[in-house]
Amino acid sequence: MTSRKGTISVNTNDIFPIIKKWLYSEHDIFLRELVANATDAITKRATLARTQNQEIPTGKITVSVDKAAKTISIEDNGLGMTEAEVEKYIAQLAFSGAEEFVQKMKSEGNTPGNDIIGKFGLGFYSAFMVSNRVEVESLSMNAGSTPTKWVCEGETDYTFEASTKSDVGTKITLHINAESEEFLNAWKVSSTLKKFCDFMPYEIFVKDAEAKEESAHPGVINETQPIWKKDPSTLKDEDYKEFYRKQFPMDGEPLFWIHLKVDHPFTLDGVLFFPKLNPNKPFNESNIKLYNKQVFVSNNVKDIVPEFLSLLKGSIDSSDIPLNVSRSSLQGDPNIKKISNYVIKKVAESLKKLFNNDRARYETIWEDIQLFLKYGAISDNKFDEMMRDFVIFKNSDNKYVTLKEYTASIPEAYKTKMEGKVLYFEKGKSDYALRRELLSQGLQALETESYIDPHFTQHVEFTKLGDATYKFVSVDSEIASLLEQDATTDSDIKVKDLFTDILIGKTENKTEEEEDLDSLNHGGLKDIEIVKIKNSKAPAYFKVDEQMKRMNQMAKNMGNDSMFPVKKTLVINPGSPLIQNALKLHEKGNDALVKKIAHHVEDLAHISSEGLKHEDREAFVARTQELMQELTNLAL
Ligand code: ADP
Ligand code: MG
Repeated sequence: MTSRKGTISVNTNDIFPIIKKWLYSEHDIFLRELVANATDAITKRATLARTQNQEIPTGKITVSVDKAAKTISIEDNGLGMTEAEVEKYIAQLAFSGAEEFVQKMKSEGNTPGNDIIGKFGLGFYSAFMVSNRVEVESLSMNAGSTPTKWVCEGETDYTFEASTKSDVGTKITLHINAESEEFLNAWKVSSTLKKFCDFMPYEIFVKDAEAKEESAHPGVINETQPIWKKDPSTLKDEDYKEFYRKQFPMDGEPLFWIHLKVDHPFTLDGVLFFPKLNPNKPFNESNIKLYNKQVFVSNNVKDIVPEFLSLLKGSIDSSDIPLNVSRSSLQGDPNIKKISNYVIKKVAESLKKLFNNDRARYETIWEDIQLFLKYGAISDNKFDEMMRDFVIFKNSDNKYVTLKEYTASIPEAYKTKMEGKVLYFEKGKSDYALRRELLSQGLQALETESYIDPHFTQHVEFTKLGDATYKFVSVDSEIASLLEQDATTDSDIKVKDLFTDILIGKTENKTEEEEDLDSLNHGGLKDIEIVKIKNSKAPAYFKVDEQMKRMNQMAKNMGNDSMFPVKKTLVINPGSPLIQNALKLHEKGNDALVKKIAHHVEDLAHISSEGLKHEDREAFVARTQELMQELTNLAL
């Protein structure tokens, strides 16, 4: 056959400069596009061969890098093309797509991202971003075909030449331009292919022309059978873990995973892992990769999975996600909404299943998944509806319970007083004494942590699901009104006056300013109350208004470390033996010792509500030692 010249029929003189200019920053996608075309060609060949009862060869793609010749070639054993087909699909059709692209970009004046390329059929032409000459050699699978070679030097003219290609398939040779020589490196090509083609369905070999004979044996760079395409019933835990290790080598073991598989009304496969969260690492980086038929498309799964699920890691593969349209239309896409709902539902179901079938395991991973779960419940009402009953808290006995279980555990005698209430204490705060008191009455309290729970508990209070209503009340704000009290006597009033004198000072003679200063000096202590809890030996505790406490916590979470002191009330239990004895000492005139006891009682209340700050500890130890010494002397 003689060589033949042709001209691209559409007016596209400016296509190449535009492609180069606009797509420059993303120019490694040419490998993805050409390998994806090769993959399509192999799939088409298999389909046709099946209908024609022909033998189906194992699909294979070879990418060769020749630094000396300055070429990269991509060869497949797909269906191949006749000269007429090359002319039609490559030279004309693809160019018309390119023209449409250029027109659109000109009229809108915007900058396309790499997702625009596929849409306008620019896939093949991305080759020109890195080449100054592209050759397509092909032999069609159709019986009696002759091989053909098409050559284009990045202008609208092209030639067809004779070819000696003897195997069915297509070989595309790129003569790499001066700006793109970084790609003339087998390692660079391999790593680019790994990024985009790690899970393509046919084996991809990378051949380095420079490599010595013995090491020239090309390696397969991809995993043709990614785990998400496999049947979950054939997979063991170890298979998932191994996949995870390969994908996220810096992580520890995943806590838990979910295999997504759906055929109708859309197709989707995927595996999502719950990573062990690193609290020091921000959550905003997305670790879910989006694939379209095993071809990597994007790290951006926004809109496809809700934000709270972006804490998960893994892969989602769907050919029903319109990848090449702009973000705004993606949001309104009914398929996307369906997919997103499906993923949410599936995640919730898997967690429920784990809860029901292996509660011990669920509890083991709870610490790591709770942030995600509570955040999910707050931000997505569907997820909330499905998961609220599966949120668990540690109770005073260090056992995990759901809110329903908590309510059910309230003793009959307290059912009315506790109606809808959930007693809680903040993690790390050591109000054991109060909790012990409640526990002796069979009342549990739930541990909350400071970061997400102020939001989560508020959410639960405001968003009612079913007939359950909840009101979270902290142990210290509620204990006095819950537990049975003894009537206040005259001697109790004396206790109040005595402690007020010592700890706050005689208020009558003070100006308001002095009082405020005093209150500051006492860490916000302003009031003293007496509450005589029946059968309680605890001398005192601090009570903080529930609403104030929460506001303060939220401010703290936002980095606003209490600018103003929160008003606290020192609640003294005159029934406690220590207080009783302090009163006796006062009556005997030993006020020096009473003063020490009063400060000690305040210290104890501090310890039980917040623990002591490091700088206070030394003073506390010194004061306690002094008091002990004095009490011992007294006894001897
Ligand atoms: P798209 O892949 O979206 O159709 P491309 O520009 O990537 O657009 O490719 C244009 C056409 O060229 C393909 O549809 C296909 O018919 C043909 N083609 C490209 N590469 C190959 C190949 N390796 N083997 C067979 N046909 C190919
Ligand atoms: Mg393509």
